[in-house]
Amino acid sequence: MPKFVYRFAEGNKDQKDLLGGKGANLAEMSNLGLPVPPGFTITTDACRAYLKEGKVPEETTVQVTKALREVEETVGRELGAAEDPLLVSVRSGAKFSMPGMMETVLNVGLNDKSVEGLAKIAGNDRFAWDSYRRLIQMFGKTVQDIDGDLFSDALDNMKKNRGAKADTDLNASDLKELTAQFKEIVKEQTGKPFPQDPRTQMDMAIEAVFRSWNSERARIYRRRERIPHDLGTAVNIVTMVFGNMGADSGTGVCFTRDPSSGRPGVYGDILMNAQGEDVVAGIRNTETLKDLEGHDKKSYDELLGIMRKLETHYEDMCDIEFTIERGKLWMLQVRVGKRTPAAAFRIATQLVDEGLITTDEALLRVTGEQLQNLMFPMFDMSGKPEVFTKGMAASPGAAVGKIVFDNDAAEASANAGVPCILVRRETNPDDLRGMVAAAGVLTSRGGKTSHAAVVARGMGKTCVVGAETIVVDQAAKTATVGDTVLHEGDEISIDGGTGEVFLGAVPVQDSPVTTYLSHGLQAGLDASDSEDEKDLIRAVDRLMTHADEVRRLVVRTNADTPADTQRALDFGAEGIGLCRTEHMFLGDRRPLVEKLILSPEGSDERQRALDALEPLQKGDFKEMLKIMDGKHMTVRLIDPPLHEFLPDLTTLEIKNAVAKAQGESLSEEDQHMLEAVRRMHEENPMLGLRGVRLGIYLPGLFKMQMKALVSAACELKKDGLDPHPEIMVPLIGSIRELQLVRDEAEEIIAQVQKEYGVTFNVPVGCMIELPRAAMTAETIAKEAEFFSFGTNDLTQTTWGFSRDDVEGVFFPQYVEAGIFGVSPFESIDTHGVGRVVAEGVKRGRSTKPNLPMGICGEHGGDPTSIHFFHKVGLDYVSCSPFRVPVARLEAGRAAA
Ligand code: ADP
Ligand code: MG
Ligand code: MG
Repeated sequence: MPKFVYRFAEGNKDQKDLLGGKGANLAEMSNLGLPVPPGFTITTDACRAYLKEGKVPEETTVQVTKALREVEETVGRELGAAEDPLLVSVRSGAKFSMPGMMETVLNVGLNDKSVEGLAKIAGNDRFAWDSYRRLIQMFGKTVQDIDGDLFSDALDNMKKNRGAKADTDLNASDLKELTAQFKEIVKEQTGKPFPQDPRTQMDMAIEAVFRSWNSERARIYRRRERIPHDLGTAVNIVTMVFGNMGADSGTGVCFTRDPSSGRPGVYGDILMNAQGEDVVAGIRNTETLKDLEGHDKKSYDELLGIMRKLETHYEDMCDIEFTIERGKLWMLQVRVGKRTPAAAFRIATQLVDEGLITTDEALLRVTGEQLQNLMFPMFDMSGKPEVFTKGMAASPGAAVGKIVFDNDAAEASANAGVPCILVRRETNPDDLRGMVAAAGVLTSRGGKTSHAAVVARGMGKTCVVGAETIVVDQAAKTATVGDTVLHEGDEISIDGGTGEVFLGAVPVQDSPVTTYLSHGLQAGLDASDSEDEKDLIRAVDRLMTHADEVRRLVVRTNADTPADTQRALDFGAEGIGLCRTEHMFLGDRRPLVEKLILSPEGSDERQRALDALEPLQKGDFKEMLKIMDGKHMTVRLIDPPLHEFLPDLTTLEIKNAVAKAQGESLSEEDQHMLEAVRRMHEENPMLGLRGVRLGIYLPGLFKMQMKALVSAACELKKDGLDPHPEIMVPLIGSIRELQLVRDEAEEIIAQVQKEYGVTFNVPVGCMIELPRAAMTAETIAKEAEFFSFGTNDLTQTTWGFSRDDVEGVFFPQYVEAGIFGVSPFESIDTHGVGRVVAEGVKRGRSTKPNLPMGICGEHGGDPTSIHFFHKVGLDYVSCSPFRVPVARLEAGRAAA
């Protein structure tokens, strides 16, 4: 018979899959000898069987009976007995906590008889009837699906009739009468009386918890949090203890450290003479944990001892629920507590200082995502900005702007240099233009996998979604919360890290963590304006230093300008892994590029254009090489399709048509251009004339770039600097392509160095960004002095979709449908694209075991991808300047 029921003595904290988080930790506490009320856990296996069969497996029922009888023996009471009844709670608990998503029913076992028994034993009629009416209310709502308002309306009526302000003002006979009314509601709504049999109550509650796994709100929650749907929930049956038996009873929640600041010391809220749910429901004002000392010193001291013990045992900050029944402390829940990013860093280093964990372990307690969060500019809250509403944090950052409701307004605003926030009910692919133009995006509907959220994260744009209190009227161009009506042009500020939305423009400031990361410890400390912040800076510094010590992956940056190069260097970049050269062809250099493209091969005109471009490129390279002195700088030869440098075809065609209609013709120059653009037009430029193909098709272009790079380096060398340029050839598919370019390169390197009278090595390598390159990497490696995996193009060419055409269009649906967890452009698709990378590494190294290999796609800054690249044995990752600290930390975590 499968084992569907575990006594607390049979489980432990590592069995979250089977017992759920709550059950596994109740078992752990019970085995630590802590005062846990007796009970047992019904496994997630039983839940999955229930969801499959539509009924609770018989074995479960049998095993529950046995476990229940053991509990009854232990406590010396029987479930729902007329005298001194055992009551239990039936509590849901899945592997991942889903706060407020599933159900818990308290006081199970009360009926018309046992309520009298409870009253007698407790010596308190009011308490017994209050417990009974709570059972019917909770049971009716969560087990029998009765509209909860029916009960709360009846309660409100009773209070009004009795002139009572709070629930606590109702006396025993009021509550007895209310109980009768509640039973009547149940009978009316279900056609049956409230179940009097205690075991029937328990079985119905168990089934309801199982069923709640698939409730609408649980499903939505899981989708939002990316929790798989097939885990199922466990059910915990726990002997009831009562915090509402009088002044010597109470209940509370506490943390072993402050989960919001990470400050050491215990934190918590308590309520005397109350049942657990009252604390969360905010029915009465809570007191702090410290106040418990005055009410019940013995329980307080015991609790503090237990908190210390739990923290030592879990080696981490714990989140605890407890209840005191007539001076006796009971532990009802423990888990490793959720915390803010700042608290995560501080707590991790505190635990090291207290000798509880090693520094390696501390690294695993923080994430690159948390670091990134600490790096975002922050709102300066000192002016106490007025809150407009709160939604879900979908893509972090602090954005301020004027409200716009559509694409045109967003673009107009951006063009005028006025930052704007795009406000929509929800977004769809048509809104892409507006999202690109806006400083931030705010929606009133949708969750973390909605279109707005997915696309905004992909673009790194600040975004808050699902701010449900806002009524967005697209036609009237208003956004309303309660009495506050905002119009187009009104200013708001959105915090994508917290989901908060403020009225007006809240001032934005650099975070001290960013100051630390770019200017060092002292600057970070100076920029902090509280002890908490200083302590955070020291914690971040210690963990970053440790990450740098243990990591194997080198971190380089993708930088195309001197400013980016400097920023990345400040953030700790150890070189440039990708310098794109295409932007060096834009702006006032455009006419030269047009000439280059349009002039016939071998013509003087073409050579003149190349000759004019060379010194300009040399200047670009020289500045960057200077900043990256002593470090590698990998320069990618020009990659994008040429027509990107020419005027737009449609615009030219229209001009032509207009001219014709007026009986005129285009100028010779325009005519010439139109023909060229027509000739160069591609149906699918992503797969067209670009990368190395361009270098071979248009001789002289690569040559000019290589000459510019090598002579820039030679000049610096002569000045006594230590430049390390590398030449990278994009979009290689065949070894022959690389051979051709490399031969040319060697010739130029030799010639230029001779000219300057200096020599140094200039490695020539290639990108591996086509499946064919990865699959023939053992051959390509013969000609390559390094590989750099271009995982953006490799993702496009492995999946067969072009990023620009798909990401904003159908990806949200793909994420929603579970085809990917996240966009494969955000995090590398380890099973497909990742496998192609691994194959390329293996094949390349089979020819040259020490061939340097890195990755320069956007995945270079993505935590999950970085761990993958560490595992497949790459030497470096290269990412955008702002992700450099994240990559350093994650590379350290991957090695720790
Ligand atoms: P959640 O997962 O929503 O926190 P719980 O199962 O922890 O739900 O139950 C909510 C609250 O109900 C607990 O914090 C506790 O105060 C109270 N509770 C649950 N079981 C018992 C019990 N056996 N005795 C007393 N109070 C209980
Ligand atoms: Mg709880
Ligand atoms: Mg590419």
